[in-house]
Amino acid sequence: MQDRGATITGFVCAKCGRSYGADQVRYVCPDCGGEGILDVLYDYEEMARRVTRRSFADTGEFSLWRYLPMLPVASSASAPPLRAGWTPLYRAEGLLGLKSVFVKDDSRNPTASLKDRATAVGVARAASEQVGAVAAASTGNAGCSLAGFAAAMGMRCYIFVPKSAPRPKVAQLLVFGATVFAVDGSYDDAFDLAMEAIERFGWYNRCCAVNPFLVEGKKTVALEVAEQMGFEVPDKVFLSVGDGCIASGVAKGFRELEQLGLTDRVPRIIGVQAEGCSPVCSAFESGSDVEPATACTCADSIAVGHPRNWRKALKGIRASGGKMMTVTDEEIIAAIPELARATGVFGEPAGVTSFAGLAKAVRQGEVESDETIVVLMTGSGLKDTESAMRSAGQPVPVGREIGDVEAKLRELDAAGRRRG
Ligand SMILES: *Cc1c(COP(=O)(O)O)cnc(C)c1O
Ligand SMILES: [Zn+2]
Repeated sequence: MQDRGATITGFVCAKCGRSYGADQVRYVCPDCGGEGILDVLYDYEEMARRVTRRSFADTGEFSLWRYLPMLPVASSASAPPLRAGWTPLYRAEGLLGLKSVFVKDDSRNPTASLKDRATAVGVARAASEQVGAVAAASTGNAGCSLAGFAAAMGMRCYIFVPKSAPRPKVAQLLVFGATVFAVDGSYDDAFDLAMEAIERFGWYNRCCAVNPFLVEGKKTVALEVAEQMGFEVPDKVFLSVGDGCIASGVAKGFRELEQLGLTDRVPRIIGVQAEGCSPVCSAFESGSDVEPATACTCADSIAVGHPRNWRKALKGIRASGGKMMTVTDEEIIAAIPELARATGVFGEPAGVTSFAGLAKAVRQGEVESDETIVVLMTGSGLKDTESAMRSAGQPVPVGREIGDVEAKLRELDAAGRRRG
């Protein structure tokens, strides 16, 4: 087994384009500060010699570490024990009347969201730097993910969430033993406070807005989709967008596969935001920089009013020939049972926002029935049961006699007939 990661040759700033050597910077571009998120560059010639379409399977790894030769982690010795990645890609023939549509169920990660991909790589980096404490600002999932991995690694963990974070996510954070600060404000307020605290107390920073290695973990979802489809990439990939890190990672993953000659193109990436918080979509449409917006949506994981990875995300989406779109909260809530009943995959609001986007695109005639589509489902429905209950209906109350059940079934039948 190739027990060695990719060789990092340096970094390039997503804003000013300046390049840095591999040992010159730690987090962001010194010239641009917080606006200057870096992109990791590798020795692609060496990478191309090491990976083939077969080499991933040959590792025998059923986790994102099958892509170690494409990741910024020196060796699998620092990899955390929790198993992230290699989630199922389900074919959902007939979904929304489409012939070839697939759902990538990333709720099947250790802490039930795609964030675990980024955390796995981030925590491996932190371990190799011998850091004892890790921290993050989070709408919820990034924090849950970091808390879980920190528990598995025996690291101290500090999480800053808006106090409005869904209760199941807060429970998850606390159960893993993180110190949880419930910030009296929005995610953006939690972010600012976390940055100050991390700076002051010297914790390892697991924020996609700062740490350039996290997006490398997120790109593995694209590598998996490609591999699971036999390296025939789909026509379009629908994904939800908050900060823009997933979109950036997916774009980078598909781009690198093409560059390595393992695939022949990059799919169109369709980024979906909630109408109540859509600064990245607005920037896509206007062609100007992101204007921080207010965040008002039930899809808490993408309620990011001041996204930081938008520049990378939009560059990737534009280069893919894709676009940004929005859906309403009603469409998001309706998408939860619609996807669950058609496929058995139960997502949280932000998790199904991608699917709500696909449903809308189909209604608007923007998808041909023979296109191959992948929907990324990014977080488990159990993380926000309140939203789920809003569209799922209510259970049928019955007494303890079989006659009660018969009577209720007759009522339900009659009601079903009336509705036609
Ligand atoms: C974080 C998250 C997203 C959005 O990812 P970004 O990288 O912030 O754009 C989407 N869905 C879920 C479930 C998430 O937790
Ligand atoms: Zn810069």
